[in-house]
Order: sequence, then C-alpha cells, then structure tokens
Amino acid sequence: MANKTIQTDEMNFEDIKEKDIGEKVKFTFSKDAFKDKELSCWACGNRMKRVKTLIELPDTDLKATIEMFRCDSCNVEYLNGEQAKKYDKVLMIAKAFSKNGFMFERSLNSDGDNYLFRFPAQLTKGWKKHQKVDINPLSATDFFVSVKE
Ligand SMILES: [Zn+2]
Repeated sequence: MANKTIQTDEMNFEDIKEKDIGEKVKFTFSKDAFKDKELSCWACGNRMKRVKTLIELPDTDLKATIEMFRCDSCNVEYLNGEQAKKYDKVLMIAKAFSKNGFMFERSLNSDGDNYLFRFPAQLTKGWKKHQKVDINPLSATDFFVSVKE
C-alpha cells in the first residue's frame, strides 16, 4: 500500500471504500501515477504546490479528496493526467451511486457455482474473448467493474 503514504489521515473516497468492505484493499496505480511531481504555472512560471481539496460529488452527499496543483500567485488549480483520470472515475462512481444515470437491468443467473449476467451488446464493442476484468466491491450489492485493455 505504498501509495497510501501520499494520502493524509483525512477521509477520502478510497478510505470509505476500504472501511465498507472491512478488509484489505489493494490500490493499483499505473506506472506513471507519480509523474508531474513538480509543475510550473503556465501563466507566471512559479512552482505550483501539490494540494488536497475536498470536493462535493454531484447528486450525492459524498465528498472526495482529490490532489491537484495550485499556483498561489495566480490562484489557478490544475489536475495532471493521472489526477484527472482519478477524478473522472470518482465522478462516475458518484453518478452510479446517485442512480441518476442511464442503466441496464439484467437477470442474474447461476450455473450452480457462479453467478452470471449478460452485458448489453452495445457496450461490448471491441471486447475480446478471455479479456480480463477487475471487480472492486463497493458494498455487498454494488461493484465497480473495469475491463482491462
Ligand atoms: Zn501562476
């Protein structure tokens, strides 16, 4: 859990997830997750500070801590690519929690050992047989599934 060292003790979205599940969760980051450790402001050239900001997630009463760069002289904030990706994911999860987005209902079937459901064909373009997915349990009934590229 090396990446936890960049987090503070304050509550963040990942901590909530970890608590809800009640067991160890391994967070994975891509190799370039720590790229742009330092960033200069494009307007004034000053070195930007790495800061954490608490943001409210739309249509929920959840908040998430995201890390960004801030230039104190220009008062601008900037997300690097990795931070932006993380922010996008948090927003998607929040949207799923709010149940406001479009969704598909599918029947759950079982072959005796495993539970199966079908993905709508319009969502699976470009998928290949034997491709892997990551399943992150968010609660006993909610899951975040990522199709690995
Ligand atoms: Zn600046």
